[in-house]
Amino acid sequence: MNVGKIFCVGRNYREHANEMKAELPTEPVIFLKPPSAIIHPPEPIVRPAFSKELHHEAELVVALGSGGRNISAEEAPGCILGYGVGLDMTLRDVQAVAKKKGLPWTTAKGFDTSAPLSEIIPADPAHPVPVFDLTCRVNGIERQRAKTSEMIFSVPFLIRYLSTIFTLEKGDLIFTGTPSGVGVVNPGDTIEASLGGVVSIEHGVTEG
Ligand code: MG
Repeated sequence: MNVGKIFCVGRNYREHANEMKAELPTEPVIFLKPPSAIIHPPEPIVRPAFSKELHHEAELVVALGSGGRNISAEEAPGCILGYGVGLDMTLRDVQAVAKKKGLPWTTAKGFDTSAPLSEIIPADPAHPVPVFDLTCRVNGIERQRAKTSEMIFSVPFLIRYLSTIFTLEKGDLIFTGTPSGVGVVNPGDTIEASLGGVVSIEHGVTEG
């Protein structure tokens, strides 16, 4: 699949917004990663030299098979090509400085290797928006677990919302936000993220 735009949603699970001491959003917080940030197993996640605080954020990823503008919530499920599991790797120290200064998160969120991604599992047209168990383990120890039904903004809502701002296209991805339990990973660690055993990824962390 040729990847187009990579949309990411911030604060889409209540408990994660709480742990970040952030207000619950009344509309989605959206940012972008460049397609060059994507890696697939077994490529390592590289913590760049300018950061000492790399965090894992396991997320359900939606791949679009079609797009358009002003898509209704009813039409949105028909745009879904399939699902994968991804990691929105985040340089939390760099992001904290950006937040404080009111600057964009691009460096903290879009650096090389910041978007580990599984294969995409085709959506079932009869059940286009299933509920997945999303989990993340670091060195075999569980750090994150949630049902994707706990998202504040659902997948159809996000597709509708994004299409009022951006023209959506085949190949676009949506990283739908992370549940609570985010935390530091260091060089030498191994991160596993899974959608209920349906699809999973495992990546080691190295130093840049
Ligand atoms: Mg995230």
